[in-house]
Amino acid sequence: MGLWRTSESQDRITLALRLPHQFESGLNQMMRVPPILQLPFWLICCLLLSLPVRAQTTLTGPLLQGGLVIGTTTPGASVWQDDQPVRVSRAGTFLIGFDRDMPETSRLRIRYADGATEHRVLPIEQRQYAIQRIRLPDHKVTPMTPQAIGRVRRDSRLLRAARRRDDDRQDFMAGFIWPVTGPISGVYGSQRILNGQKKHPHYGVDLARPTGTPVVAPAAGIVTVAAPDMFYSGGTLVIDHGHQLTSALLHLSELAVRVGDRVQQGQPVGRVGATGRATGPHLDWRMKLRRHQIDPQLLVPPIPGNTP
Ligand SMILES: [Zn+2]
Repeated sequence: MGLWRTSESQDRITLALRLPHQFESGLNQMMRVPPILQLPFWLICCLLLSLPVRAQTTLTGPLLQGGLVIGTTTPGASVWQDDQPVRVSRAGTFLIGFDRDMPETSRLRIRYADGATEHRVLPIEQRQYAIQRIRLPDHKVTPMTPQAIGRVRRDSRLLRAARRRDDDRQDFMAGFIWPVTGPISGVYGSQRILNGQKKHPHYGVDLARPTGTPVVAPAAGIVTVAAPDMFYSGGTLVIDHGHQLTSALLHLSELAVRVGDRVQQGQPVGRVGATGRATGPHLDWRMKLRRHQIDPQLLVPPIPGNTP
């Protein structure tokens, strides 16, 4: 639902820009004709503009860093985003996404079943991210033990393997709901700088709720990770919504599902906690499409009481 909220077809804009070129010379001649004789010309113009745009590929969603866009094309078409192949369903549905640091353009290539190829350059709106500078005495920044480093590596191997799953389910088509609602205590993209050193940006949206608060599946899917105690993210669930779009739910105190389980949207899957490296109980919800970190907040309605 939220996914399609910000929808505006690009094609309508393209048409508006193209028309003057096509009609420029005709228009110049027309202006020399008496107004009464111009009438049929303007009628045809009005008719043309009111016709629905027949584009073979439509895109719905925000062209914005962190944005997720659903594409619809003709069956049998192949799609690449920045030269990376994109899964296209039998009916012609596909997903593209824009990472936190996506440059100002992303290239889309569509090869239709008849062999025709279309190139589109998508303008990607750039965002400003919050910067959080933290100074800590050096002895308070605990060095990683070899044991901890080993755990972090194992965790990320497991997550990477789970995210390689790529199947034709389209659970994302039903839209997304908040896994919990509450005060937003962290947003997508913010950059933490610890003692002058850039740390990983924050890719999730944090919701502060007490430990034990039920967490539900934001959309239907298949559970691909159910780890009770990862080094950074503690109790961790990954739900695969199809086409390599995943949700991760972090710092959980309890997991209610197992790897391989099929979950429905709204189904309880665990409970809020403060496990892993967390300063207090909260849910960190992250989304990823292939290599792109997606901002989950763009897919759901605002939570009443939270200022955007
Ligand atoms: Zn977080």
